[in-house]
Formats: sequence, C-alpha cells, structure tokens
Amino acid sequence: MSVQTPDTAYAATDLARIPGLVSGVRYGFELGITRPAAWRREQLTRLRNLLIGREKDFEAALQRDLGKSATESQLTEIGFLVVEIDHALAHLASWMRPRRVAPPLALQPATAKVLPEPLGVVLVIAPWNYPLMLALSPVIGAIAAGNTVVVKPSELAPATSALIAKLLPDTLDRRAVAVVEGGVEETTELLAQRFDHIFYTGNGRVGRIVAHAAAEHLTPTTLELGGKSPVFVDGTVPLAEAAKRIVWGKFLNAGQTCVAPDYVLAESAVLRALIPHLRDAIHELYGSAIARNPDYGRIVNARQFERLESYLAQAERDPAAFGEIVAGGERDPESLFFAPTVLARVPAEAPVMQEEIFGPILPLVEVRDLDAALRLVSSRDKPLAAYVFSDDQATRARWERETSSGALNFGVPVLHLSVPGLPFGGVGESGMGAYHGELSFRIFSHEKPVLSKPLVPDTLAATIMPPYTAGKDSLVRTWLRRIL
Ligand code: NAD
Repeated sequence: MSVQTPDTAYAATDLARIPGLVSGVRYGFELGITRPAAWRREQLTRLRNLLIGREKDFEAALQRDLGKSATESQLTEIGFLVVEIDHALAHLASWMRPRRVAPPLALQPATAKVLPEPLGVVLVIAPWNYPLMLALSPVIGAIAAGNTVVVKPSELAPATSALIAKLLPDTLDRRAVAVVEGGVEETTELLAQRFDHIFYTGNGRVGRIVAHAAAEHLTPTTLELGGKSPVFVDGTVPLAEAAKRIVWGKFLNAGQTCVAPDYVLAESAVLRALIPHLRDAIHELYGSAIARNPDYGRIVNARQFERLESYLAQAERDPAAFGEIVAGGERDPESLFFAPTVLARVPAEAPVMQEEIFGPILPLVEVRDLDAALRLVSSRDKPLAAYVFSDDQATRARWERETSSGALNFGVPVLHLSVPGLPFGGVGESGMGAYHGELSFRIFSHEKPVLSKPLVPDTLAATIMPPYTAGKDSLVRTWLRRIL
C-alpha cells in the first residue's frame, strides 16, 4: 500500500497484517530460536554483511531522503552500525555469562547468580533524521540479548524505510524479525499490540503517546527524545578551534541531529570575538558555494523547512526582537537547501529559543556571566546534552554539579555517542533509559536472580523458622544481623 501526505509518499504495511506480524515473531520467541548464542552471532553477522554488501544502496537511500553525503552516511549511519555490531560480537559471550553473587553467611550453604534473559518481543520505532542508524542500532541490542523484534522505520525517510523493509526480512531470520512500514495509523495499530519492550526515538509529544499505550500492557519503554542542547563558551579556550567544533556538530546532517548544539551562551565580549571564527569555520568546512557542496545535507521535507523559514523571516523583519543574521541565511524551498546560519543577539525569550531547533540555525545568546548561563540552563527542560568550552576547572566543575542533562561534554559536541562505554540517553524531557555498548544488551534483558540452596543440611529450621524460641529470638537480634 502507498500513502500520500503533504510531505511525501511512503509505503505502508496493510493494517490488517500487523497483528499477525507481531504474533508471528512472538511465536518465534516462544520457539526458543533466539536463545542460543550461535543464533544471535549468526544474525548479527548477517546484518553486518548486509550493511557492507549493500552500502551503496543505503548511501543512495540516505542521499534521497536527506541529501546525505556518502562519507557522512558511512560516519554516522552505516559505519556506526558496523562498529556497534563488532563490539557486540566481541563482547557477547561475556555479556551473556551469568554473574556470580556471594550469598551472605547466614544463608550458607547456597549459591547465587544473576542470569540475563531476553525480555521477549521488542518494538523499535525510529525517526527520520538518522533513519538507518536509529532503526537498526536498537535491533542490534535486541538481537544480542536474544529477543525477537518488530521495526517501524520513519515514514518521513521513505527511501531508507523501503530499503530496510525490502532487505531485512531476506537477510535475518523471518521468524524473529519483522518490519512494519507506515506512519501514525500503522504505528497506532502496532502500539495496540502487546510487546515486552518498546524502544522509541523521536519527539516528546509522540513519546507520551508511546508511554500511554505501553502502560496498557505494563510494557517497559526506552524513550530517546530531544531538547535544546546548550553550548557555553568562555574566554579561556582558543575560540577558532571551539568555533570549528561547534560548527561541525551543529551543521552535521544540516542541523537535524538530536544531540546537535542548539544555541550558544557566552558573555558579550566572547560572542563578539566568536562570530568571525564561526564564519571562518563554516567557510572552512563547507566552502563558499554551500548550495552546490555535496558534503552539506538538505532539510528533510517542506514542513520542516517552513518551520525553520519562519525563524529567519522573523529575524529579517525585526532583528532586535528575533536576532540578527550574521552568517548564512540563504535558503531555497525548491531544493530544501538551508544554509548554515548564525543568529546573533538573540533574546532568551525569542521563539527560536523556545523549541528544539532541529535545523541549521545557531542562535547566540548573551549572558552576563557563568551564573546567568547556569541559571538559564537549569530553569529549562533538561536537555539531551550540554557542551562546555572552558579550560577553567572551577567552571567545568560547576557545570558538572549544577546542571542536569543527558550527557555533558567538554571541548567537543556529539561524540559521546561514539564511546560504547558511555550510556546514551536523556533525562527528564529529553527521555528515559539509555543504550549503546553493553547497555544495549542490558536494556533488552531481564537480570534474573537465581538462588540455590540445598535442602540438606537444613540450616533454616534451627534459625529463622517458627516456633520462635528465646534462643532463636536472641539469634535474630544479634548474630543474624551481623552475618546477613
Ligand atoms: P518522526 O516524525 O520520524 O517520528 C518518530 C516516529 O514516531 C516515526 O516512526 C513515526 O511514524 C512515529 N509517530 C509519529 N507520530 C505518531 C503518532 N501520533 N503515534 C504513534 N507514532 C507516531 O521523527 P521526529 O519525532 O520528528 O524526530 C525528531 C525528534 O527526535 C527530535 O526531537 C530529536 O531530537 C529526536 N531524536 C532523538 C534521538 C535520541 O537518540 N535521543 C535521536 C534522533 C532524534
């Protein structure tokens, strides 16, 4: 079935087929096929081979959906997934191994362990901005942990969605992995089914719908959401280098990155000095004919373009109220090109400072001092990330202590998500739950405690079982407290 929206046409799975697809992979789970480590390895290896064998097709789909360059697709989508699979394959045996726990002396003789077991059937709902990586990265964790999976790619990246729907069922065990394509209607139908974990990446409005639907079945959820990730810069760092890193993180994927720097906070002298460096950095990374530079992406669709356009139209009309364009500003609704744009002197109450920008507009907001910057960030929703450019240890310590965000980076935006040992996720409005590396295995596992105590010798009757004698009473009050 094909659906036409004002944004774009996308393929959709027949609504009537959805319950059957879900019960199919539930049956696959019940058969136990996902339990052996060998099956998990085989699926992960096949997925790895698919990503590499069909990389040109994936690059072409990402180019069609987002104008992504092949190199950027390798860096942030295809290669990212391959590295994640390699990490999972290298560590799977140790992740699956039961962890021994020593029972207290009072319970001896006994043994105890924690046994990770798969949850069952996982639903993955993905967004459009990294449409391959964000659809498949949770699948890697779900399979590694021995679950079966239903994946719902984003309808707003229709080429990538169609490719995933075409290739995944032919590559992976169909008894364990199903793809449902479509938008609101199909996702609503999916959410009416019972799952054992729902992993949602996207915006907070839909995150609430997902959490609501999950509550009906008491299904645990991971919500990977967004927010306005602030940048703070002070005069202790080399501004040219800081500007280059901010520009890279902001304009990657044309600003459509959940952990992109959203806005910059600094004292007025620092901001004045930073502006020419931001201009230089944009030029250095993307040249002077950015609209013709294949390294720079496009806005995903007309609706998102218009949302961004309204911020710039306001700034052009009334710079004092909405900020002044000091770099970029060129845009073309036909080709969905939107230049890397910097807005200076943006009031903290301006519309561009209310919602996550999720596009290539970087507002610079003047603050009186560090205290004011910390107050501004703390008074708002907790962001997915905060980025601090300062070599002053006391300043860094204050950001660590006095603000809360999904992650906090010093000196570089975005890259925390490439460290497998760091949990990736939000807090408060920016989401709940985290994944990557071993955590991707843990979130799709139940950590089952297993205690084993022989019936003979019977150490319990003489200590904790009724009838309670004076001797047992004194044992419970003294000795047991010390050895439990
Ligand atoms: P989107 O519009 O593609 O939506 C995400 C998914 O939700 C899609 O699969 C879509 O079909 C589904 N959906 C949409 N409306 C629905 C409804 N009413 N009921 C059920 N399902 C529905 O993507 P988006 O939400 O625009 O993505 C952008 C947001 O995602 C930004 O806020 C961004 O910060 C956030 N994001 C977060 C992360 C992260 O890892 N934390 C990563 C990428 C994006």
